[in-house]
Amino acid sequence: MIHPDLLSDHREGAVGQDGQRLDHAEGTSRPMRSRIREPQPRGARVHGSSPIDQSEAAARFIAATEHEKMHDERLWDLRKKRDRVMHCIEEWEELRELASQIKQHTLANLDQYLEQFEAAATANGVTVHWAADGAEHNKIVHGILRDHGAKTLIKSKSMLTEECGMRSYMASVGIEVIETDLGERIQQLDNEDPSHVVVPAVHKLRGDVAEVFAREFGTDPDNDDVHYLAEQQRQATRPLILGADAGMTGANFAVAETGSFVICTNEGNADLSANVPRLHIASIGIEKLIPRIEHLGVFVRLLSRSALGSPMTQYTSHFRAPRRGGEMHIVLVDNGRTARLGMEEFWTSLKCIRCGACMNTYPVYRRSGGLSYGATYSGPIGLILDPTFDRRKYSALPFSSSLNGSCSNVCPVKINIHEQIFAWRKVMSETHEIPLMKAAMMKAAGELLSQPALYRAAITAADSALRHLPKFLIYNPINTWTRGREMPEAPKQTFHSWWKQHRMEGKAGAAPQDGGGA
Ligand code: SF4
Repeated sequence: MIHPDLLSDHREGAVGQDGQRLDHAEGTSRPMRSRIREPQPRGARVHGSSPIDQSEAAARFIAATEHEKMHDERLWDLRKKRDRVMHCIEEWEELRELASQIKQHTLANLDQYLEQFEAAATANGVTVHWAADGAEHNKIVHGILRDHGAKTLIKSKSMLTEECGMRSYMASVGIEVIETDLGERIQQLDNEDPSHVVVPAVHKLRGDVAEVFAREFGTDPDNDDVHYLAEQQRQATRPLILGADAGMTGANFAVAETGSFVICTNEGNADLSANVPRLHIASIGIEKLIPRIEHLGVFVRLLSRSALGSPMTQYTSHFRAPRRGGEMHIVLVDNGRTARLGMEEFWTSLKCIRCGACMNTYPVYRRSGGLSYGATYSGPIGLILDPTFDRRKYSALPFSSSLNGSCSNVCPVKINIHEQIFAWRKVMSETHEIPLMKAAMMKAAGELLSQPALYRAAITAADSALRHLPKFLIYNPINTWTRGREMPEAPKQTFHSWWKQHRMEGKAGAAPQDGGGA
């Protein structure tokens, strides 16, 4: 029987301010309008610890116009849905503030809450392990699987295991890992990493998915109907799920008071991973702790609304103890989190609940695709997390931001994302982690900005150059800034000269007609 509240038009978040019904975002993604197959652009080229060239990968993504347009529209659609459901909750800002404070308190007392969680989970019959880094995490998981003679593992989507490089590790020791989240499974079959923390295959057109399934399952490459594709995937993966030796999940929140954890999904796949095999392993980053079960409601209300613009995820599953006759292991993973907690300017990034809202709103991410970052975490949150893992490799990423602040505005836990991106730029320049040419240009810009007369002369010259120089002198391979950007229209008069002129004439009332900027 359906609860009467669910039939009511007054249910929370079901209708936006403009009266439009709020459907599940993934269910409403638009079909391809064109049958022309544009090859899917691949992500950044990764060579060991060499700095990632995000702009080069972004240029390739932008050149694939169908992909770029779809990606931009699909993510902006999520952003708009987020805005509508956010406006349905009067106390939204109070919720954000509360969530931020709960996280701050938990992180300030993390050692105590972790011990409390371990004790409660152990009392529940769960075995708790501690992993200092990704390598240790993989060894622990492998050890558990080996002890149980497990050869196949079904896995629910988890950014933490991506961070630890678990998939490739397991392949190297002969364990077959099968992703149960549809998007993540598509990425696995296509040998790609997730491109987004919530919707991992969001950069793919339906035709791309049809191509992957045709290659892997022998299905019709010309049929990109979403029901057909989903059914093919279901038929191919179901036997693997039913026959798996072990199941693995991550966790969205871990409750110190109860030793339990919560996973939010829209496909129920975490429930399959946790309940079908007798052995359940959960990998949990230590920052996922919240103190008490009463705090959960704050985060659950914020998470799905921020992520997909839906009031709730379809499944919000609580796990506390092993299933009857089964076994449950929790691996608590640090992997750089303690070090990040000690970073004065960057520790608040540990508040992140991985909703992806900052990515959906971010113009650079929407137009360049998540794989262009060449890292586990992409978009604004990636720009502040990635350098904590490898400063050199991700040294260029903090510069691929417009610093418009929209990411900080939508963040449900109020992380000052754009300020941290800016702070990373300073770190990169102080630690000489930026290319010589860029360092020289920044130094020259600094000199220029510190001398007003020189600056004004340069601006006048630049404006004149913008108006008169041939296009090829501005847009060319040497000027990397104009890759994917357009230069602004040069004003006829700068604000400074307008102000000087009108102040002298004593009639500084009207705004300059040409919108002259200083
Ligand atoms: S930084 Fe904020 S907006 Fe971005 S994923 Fe994390 S919680 Fe969501």
